[in-house]
Amino acid sequence: MASDLVSQLSLKNGGKILLAVMDGVGDLPITEFGGLTPLEKAETPNMDRLAAGGALGQQCPVGRGITPGSGPGHLALFGYDPVKYLVGRGALAALGIGFQLKHGDLAARINFCTLGEDGVILDRRAGRISTDLCIELVNQLKEVSVPGVEVFVEPVKEHRACVVFRGAGLSEHIHDTDPGLTGEKPVPVTATDSDAVLAVSVVDEFINKSMAILKDKSPANGLLLRGFALHKDLPAMQDRYKLNPAAVALYPMYRGVASLAGMEQFQSDPSDLSGEVVAVNNALKAGKDFVFLHHKYTDSSGEDGDHERKVREIEKFDRVIPELLQCGFDVICITGDHSTPCPMKLHSWHPVPVLIHGGPQRTGWSSRFTEREAASGALGTFKGSELMPLLLAAAGRLAKFGA
Ligand code: ZN
Repeated sequence: MASDLVSQLSLKNGGKILLAVMDGVGDLPITEFGGLTPLEKAETPNMDRLAAGGALGQQCPVGRGITPGSGPGHLALFGYDPVKYLVGRGALAALGIGFQLKHGDLAARINFCTLGEDGVILDRRAGRISTDLCIELVNQLKEVSVPGVEVFVEPVKEHRACVVFRGAGLSEHIHDTDPGLTGEKPVPVTATDSDAVLAVSVVDEFINKSMAILKDKSPANGLLLRGFALHKDLPAMQDRYKLNPAAVALYPMYRGVASLAGMEQFQSDPSDLSGEVVAVNNALKAGKDFVFLHHKYTDSSGEDGDHERKVREIEKFDRVIPELLQCGFDVICITGDHSTPCPMKLHSWHPVPVLIHGGPQRTGWSSRFTEREAASGALGTFKGSELMPLLLAAAGRLAKFGA
């Protein structure tokens, strides 16, 4: 899909759109359910009504056979080609803790590790130190300064932290310093491309000064950096689609990806699905015409292989739909950012069911929101990044192409 064309045809006025994402909702037949998927097993009278009065299809977030992370999965849903706008691991780690990355920032993941007297790595995760100790170490590393750049070190969890370098002329073309195995020394900071000379000297100085602080600690007396990623601003949805977008999500990583696309965050109080529904309503009242709502726990139950809990999470989401309908959206879309089948306990490449309700649709083709009905639904099978044009069209926000 030529997104430039969609951008050119986008209209400033039109219907209000809700994009509700049940993370990892797609699944596989579950033996204990007699071959039904969690969506098929769940009692979802509200989604079923929307399915009958709307249209179903299925989307491949990145492409056929490609298993996406949640970052690329969401970027696709927001209409960005997830391959072109790849967000690197280091940047995702920073976004994941709510760090506001700026264009040109260089981010990397940190692992605290245990080094032997000869400098070889004994434990790449420093015995998975507590998050409290991680915070304590990071507070000491915050003292490290490198001339010419700003340095931000932030704790993540257990042995994991992240670092962001802010300054002109940085490059992400740097090798991981983590060799990926024990019994070897950390890899010296080296460039993978000639544009990274400055970045290498900055990172090298940071590591040397950090090692000096850590050297007498135990068990975390060293650090490894990986996933170097230069942050690039995305073209905002305001410019791309003439929308005024908002996001309601409980977890920082999803808020981070949404803010990359230019969405304003609306806080949920309480921090659960009921609070999220209130926040969605607040976003509309504040004049937003596109709201992204994220429901996380369908994915976590899939990753735990807990099909019963996944059913309950789907049903929980179904129960808030009447309230979402009352908010006054013209178009409601329900989908996922990828499949997380319980039998696999992992993200997978299987297409994700999509439901669009509102606007002129080929209604009456489907009676339930399930993988099976989505596969034969009126919308067919399409790429995740083609969802936004479908939503804009349904909301009357895309002009005719040509005379
Ligand atoms: Zn996800």
